[in-house]
Amino acid sequence: MHVATPYAKPTADAPAPSAVLDAEKSDLGGGGYLEELLAHGLLVSTGVEGLYGRSAVFEDVVEHISALVGAWGADRPVEVLRFPPAMSRKLLEDSGYLRNFPDQVGSVFTFCGNDRDHSRLLRCLDKQEDWTESLSMTRVVMTPVACYPVYPVMAARGPLPQEGRTIDIFSYCFRHEPSFEPERMQLFRQREFVRMGTPLQIEEFLQEMIGLAKETIQALGLPATIAVASDAFFGRTGKVVADSQRHQRLKFELLIPAINPDKPTACCSFNNHTDCFGKIWQILGATGEVAHTGCCGFGLERIALSLFRHHGFDIDGWPESVRATLWPT
Ligand code: ZN
Repeated sequence: MHVATPYAKPTADAPAPSAVLDAEKSDLGGGGYLEELLAHGLLVSTGVEGLYGRSAVFEDVVEHISALVGAWGADRPVEVLRFPPAMSRKLLEDSGYLRNFPDQVGSVFTFCGNDRDHSRLLRCLDKQEDWTESLSMTRVVMTPVACYPVYPVMAARGPLPQEGRTIDIFSYCFRHEPSFEPERMQLFRQREFVRMGTPLQIEEFLQEMIGLAKETIQALGLPATIAVASDAFFGRTGKVVADSQRHQRLKFELLIPAINPDKPTACCSFNNHTDCFGKIWQILGATGEVAHTGCCGFGLERIALSLFRHHGFDIDGWPESVRATLWPT
């Protein structure tokens, strides 16, 4: 299996991102935090920027942050659904993701040829020539946003009940953003709550989620602020879309100034999609109108990285209140 991105074949005009990154490595923020994480064995290098192994300690922290967030749904009518970190290509095409974020897509390609094609592939490989032309696109792409797979599933169930629906999602997400900033990983996990219903139900949900996120991060002993935000839409038209998103206050982020105090890290996002996904996937409300949707995502690695930066690499030395929050007895 090979995961190709639009950067798979760099041209003379567009050097490979890794070359750019090597040149700029010393200019990147983070103050050597990545090197420290690697030295402490919390992250393990794979030789690719933004793609790391995780130690048992790091995983334990991530899993307990996820459990802490997930507890909100335990005594509420929340449906838990899990999907693998890859999804239907058709679904991604329908979502508008390629229009808005073409530079972050990961598509899965595989070899579909015969014996002769296979020989050609091996010859290319032996000569260290480009062998990727022997591959064909599959029906699978990497999941860029944890909540995408859930919309068509809910649409297929028919109109929403009066009270709407709330879904608990957890997934690895892929975004092609090679970087030496540890908080910008190419594969990372999001714990999300997704809400579908009336405009008012979405508004109320997002307000409640902002409250939950603030409480959670405060209990973890981390500083945080909430700010209006926009997604990193691609290109010139993308800027207009991002400005409009900000203007309509459709996206908020919880920022933690721990990993890099000069550039606070977005660790949770609160997104009002209005009727955008309802229209795309024909999700209908109880009275037949197009449903509104919204989601709240917690970036689990980013919260974990903030904890290690703020409280130190030794989890036994973390404040007692933080330890009691993460590991309740
Ligand atoms: Zn989402």
